[in-house]
Amino acid sequence: MDYLKEVKEIVNSIVPKEAEVTSVDLEGPEVAVYTKRPKIFHDNEDYVRQIAHQLKKKVNMRCDKSLLIDEKEAKEKIMQIVPQDARIADIQFNEAFNEVFIEALKPGLVIGKGGMTSKQIILETGWTPKIVRSPTSPSEVLKGIRHHLNKYSTERKKILQETAKKIYSERAQESWVRLTALGGFRQVGRSCMLLETRKTKILLDCGINVAAQTNEDAFPYLDAIRFPINELDAVVLSHAHMDHSGFIPYLFKVGYRGPIYCTEPTRDLTTILLFDYLDILAKDNKEAPYNERDVKEMLKYCITREYREVTDIAPDMRLTFHNAAHILGSASVHLNIGEGAHNLVYSADIKYGFTRLFNNVDINYPRLESLIVESTYGAKEDIQTAREESEAQFLKIIQETINQGGSILVPVFAVGRAQELQLVIENFYRRGLISPDVKVYIDGMTKESSAIHTAYPEYLRNAVQKRVLQNDSPFTSEIFQVAKPEDRDSITQNGSAIILASSGMLTGGASVQYFYRLAEDPKNTLVFVGYNGEGSLGRKIQSGIKNLPVTENNGRTKKLNINLRIETLDGFSGHSDRNQLVAYVRNLKPKPKRIFTDHGEASKTIELARFFSAKFGINSQSIRNLDSVRLK
Ligand SMILES: [Zn+2]
Ligand SMILES: [Zn+2]
Repeated sequence: MDYLKEVKEIVNSIVPKEAEVTSVDLEGPEVAVYTKRPKIFHDNEDYVRQIAHQLKKKVNMRCDKSLLIDEKEAKEKIMQIVPQDARIADIQFNEAFNEVFIEALKPGLVIGKGGMTSKQIILETGWTPKIVRSPTSPSEVLKGIRHHLNKYSTERKKILQETAKKIYSERAQESWVRLTALGGFRQVGRSCMLLETRKTKILLDCGINVAAQTNEDAFPYLDAIRFPINELDAVVLSHAHMDHSGFIPYLFKVGYRGPIYCTEPTRDLTTILLFDYLDILAKDNKEAPYNERDVKEMLKYCITREYREVTDIAPDMRLTFHNAAHILGSASVHLNIGEGAHNLVYSADIKYGFTRLFNNVDINYPRLESLIVESTYGAKEDIQTAREESEAQFLKIIQETINQGGSILVPVFAVGRAQELQLVIENFYRRGLISPDVKVYIDGMTKESSAIHTAYPEYLRNAVQKRVLQNDSPFTSEIFQVAKPEDRDSITQNGSAIILASSGMLTGGASVQYFYRLAEDPKNTLVFVGYNGEGSLGRKIQSGIKNLPVTENNGRTKKLNINLRIETLDGFSGHSDRNQLVAYVRNLKPKPKRIFTDHGEASKTIELARFFSAKFGINSQSIRNLDSVRLK
């Protein structure tokens, strides 16, 4: 590989001979430098910095294999070096990368002041620590994911090397860019786009529409791709929600074996949601489009990036994720195509307004020509209630329901709304606005999802981050009780409970089980806090159906009367409302030259595009699924 030669030359021009660099390797978008003299690198930190600067790549310094000491001995040394306060939960050795994976509750103490502790580990054991944070409450899924990645590290190394070959292959001269809509245009659900240049083919998101009635409407139009799926160069995933991630394992089922670029929380939350999806389908005796094996295969191919980390993903494409403030790890995607010939921003789902969970959305980009912007709440009348007002209404509903002995069911997306609502409720308790006798039950995948939030506090709003770091995580507050399926009867019979359960649109899972138990008693309240997709049970109830056929355990169908109080609070949404979408586009820097609206019902995407054209004088279009447009 020519590029590798080039990289080696650059490394050798910066690092003196006595540092004894024994090999240089390309691992996907990153570079690994192996040395027999790690101390020389530590005494001259500028070496790594200079290499990174010249290559514009992340550089990992590791020891030559000959320096690695025996694993058992290394483990003992690590336990001696790292202060006990760090609370190490797991140590695993990763021979493929000469790294030692260390999971600790306080990773800062494994790193040490100025990196002193981790340097000591390298110098005394030869193993380079790869340090991650433990969640403050145990998460089986997270444990499983991390084990899986360590177990397959040899394979992962190969995958990264293969990926590097593609990234550094030859660049095409002519530059054109074409976007094809494969799903999620003039609709919410199954978001998927194909972005092509002469040289490169990538997918932006690949989701499913969980509210769809038939498979034809549920999955993106992959059959419109006129080349074998394994010719795709990469998939870029904006965030974990199923309408963006849900069909990615299918790509692996049909032969794709390439990178999935996403943030670290997105990788983990996506895994949770995919397993949950398969689980719900299995329980409902429905056929799944792929199986667990495909999900696990996909996991091996995830290459995680942080916000604002610039990454080459193809010879003519550079990717950067930006904070989208929608769910944990959610990102807007910036693509620099053909050395700046064209710059595309895909907003994906964004919240351009206050949330308790996240810092503000990024609105500054180095360059920008085309913008693809969501329009879930893009119509003129889609104005959400102010946040404080929604919180006050929510409190009032809770108090009124509890006072008459009823329970409150809040169907939530396990990822996102659940945690936002946990923060709101925890805040009520801390201020003494709800009696400590009222119990808050968390059911469905919410518990796992909340645990993952505590493993990545750097993705949370500063105030929440601080609490997690001080081990005062609002998600693990004692007011929250984890409910198991066998508890559901007693919880609903006792009354005076607040129940947060997924799925958010009542399309299956725990929330539906609670709904069946609570629906007939007018003392109870059902509170919608998020989006209900067309065709979902949530949408039907919202639009006023009075009863519902339900299959009971004995197989008979009974009529369920819907007598409970129904409320919709729109101020907790993880999506921008109309005013926020308009403000987002107005404040974006630089101004886009062209706008495409997606992720909204037809009328909304069309109206919003018209508004942008008229108001901002920017060529704006609501394209349809299967439309192709030339961007450059
Ligand atoms: Zn989303
Ligand atoms: Zn979405």
